Amino acid sequence: MVKKGEVEELISKALAARERAYAPYSGFAVGAALLTSSGKIYEGCNIENVSHSLAICAERVALFRAVAAGERQFSRIAIVSEGGAMPCGACRQVLAEFSGGLEVIVADTEGAWRLFTLEELLPKRFGAKIGLGEGCGGDERGREGKGAYKEYLALDDEPEEGKGRAPASGPGETCRGGERS
Ligand SMILES: [Zn+2]
Repeated sequence: MVKKGEVEELISKALAARERAYAPYSGFAVGAALLTSSGKIYEGCNIENVSHSLAICAERVALFRAVAAGERQFSRIAIVSEGGAMPCGACRQVLAEFSGGLEVIVADTEGAWRLFTLEELLPKRFGAKIGLGEGCGGDERGREGKGAYKEYLALDDEPEEGKGRAPASGPGETCRGGERS
């Protein structure tokens, strides 16, 4: 259960981090505060570059700082921006690498916020556990390890006997069979 005081503390840290954003090109400042399972908080802000594609989001800055400090387990992240922008797809994937069950608080600069789980923001994500039968990448029931990864990459190859081929419409179509109702 999320306690209001804990949420507010994390949001205020993200808000402070947002003040340090380096966003001279977009003018869109974002701050993030990532809570580890051990109770530490790592902050991040977006950092842009004159070569625009090299910009990095606040969420990933916070995560990379935490991982570089030896942290691997996270329980919650707060992300603050004007209007409360949702985290981009790249950040969702990177956050999922460490904490599939992460709670994601998206807040605006006025203090309004919404709580999501990473699972709902990035369902059927690409992961090391692959299984087309039940759900797709990242599913607990999938196979694990390098062999499964190879199998995933091999979907465009000629199908083996009885294995079938990935349909021309792409992975979404492949996943449909594993959809849980
Ligand atoms: Zn992002």
